[in-house]
Amino acid sequence: MAEVKKIAVIAGDGIGPEVVAEAEKVLKRTEELFGYKFQTEHALFGGIAIDEKGTPLPQETLDICQKADAVLLGAVGGPKWDNNPKELRPETGLLGIRKALGLFSNLRPAVVFDCLKDASTLKAEVLEGTDLIVVRELTGGIYFGEKFRRETENGQEAVDTCAYNVNEVERIVRQAFEIAQKRRKKLASVDKANVLETSRLWREVVIKVAPEYPDVELEHVLVDNCAMQLLRRPSSFDVIVTENMFGDILSDEAAMLTGSIGMLSSASLGEGSFGLYEPVHGSAPDIAGQNLANPIATILSVALMFRMTFGYADAADAIERAVSDVLNAGHRTGDIAVDKSKAIGTTEMGDMIVAAIKK
Ligand code: NAD
Repeated sequence: MAEVKKIAVIAGDGIGPEVVAEAEKVLKRTEELFGYKFQTEHALFGGIAIDEKGTPLPQETLDICQKADAVLLGAVGGPKWDNNPKELRPETGLLGIRKALGLFSNLRPAVVFDCLKDASTLKAEVLEGTDLIVVRELTGGIYFGEKFRRETENGQEAVDTCAYNVNEVERIVRQAFEIAQKRRKKLASVDKANVLETSRLWREVVIKVAPEYPDVELEHVLVDNCAMQLLRRPSSFDVIVTENMFGDILSDEAAMLTGSIGMLSSASLGEGSFGLYEPVHGSAPDIAGQNLANPIATILSVALMFRMTFGYADAADAIERAVSDVLNAGHRTGDIAVDKSKAIGTTEMGDMIVAAIKK
């Protein structure tokens, strides 16, 4: 009998509940097929939590997440809360939940499905075989450093400071090496060591820990070069690890290789196996409640959860294969359809993927 895994489910706002409902169907189907056992508990978060509980991140939600093995999140936010004061904004809840759960890395896979190569702005032959993952440090660097302004003889000056300590670098670099070990065993560490002191420390740490992962082929890539190589030879990358701001920029660039935001999953990880899994897209208020949203990003987030937190590679493979099979058979939601008149809805796409999951 498989161990029961606890999953906190946060549907959120806008299209969040619609795409999460399809992901839950996938969870149920993998239980039936593979014998895994999941216990899901729903929690309020974001705009809906502001409306019902007066805060974007109620303590009760945090408790449910902290007791769980993993969190599945839809999306939060929307115009209704855009003009609220900072503490009553859904995005404030996002920062709060990451901090409270100790999530220090963000993983974004970028996989180009062969049948969607034409949806990208890059040439199909450049994209062929692209399957990479960007591991971004999430809690340090220039976004969290001291910020201030001061008067100088040349007028006002603004200062942002960037700091990293050895522990912060080491924990994410080790995580990236371990992820690479489970994939094609290639790691690109991205820095700007020719200019930045934080990057020189970053590179020293990478060089220090690398001998513990002799099966992983390591390259150091300067961030500006990496931005170019992602467009020139994306299929040569396997795992890319980098600091917060470089990762922010490179993960968006890598995301665009795939063509549609409705296809992109992500994970935020802390120490151990705990993780929060969510689509990269937001709550898409423009299409909410109309059965138009693409649920694939959220469904692929479940596959990522199976792989990264539970070690259920068989079920993760089966979900990814099912998504591929449904796309290869020509089924598309509006965001990825060439002929929009033939597009199918959120629930139809979810049902087709569920039906295509095979052991
Ligand atoms: P968005 O990702 O919600 O939407 C951008 C565009 O992509 C829209 O045209 C939308 O219709 C489309 N889109 C997004 N997901 C789709 C899907 N699954 N299927 C089909 N089309 C899809 O970004 P936005 O419009 O900038 O933000 C809307 C709201 O979402 C804002 O309140 C923002 O703060 C919030 N947001 C939340 C998160 C999160 O919860 N992690 C992330 C980003 C934005």
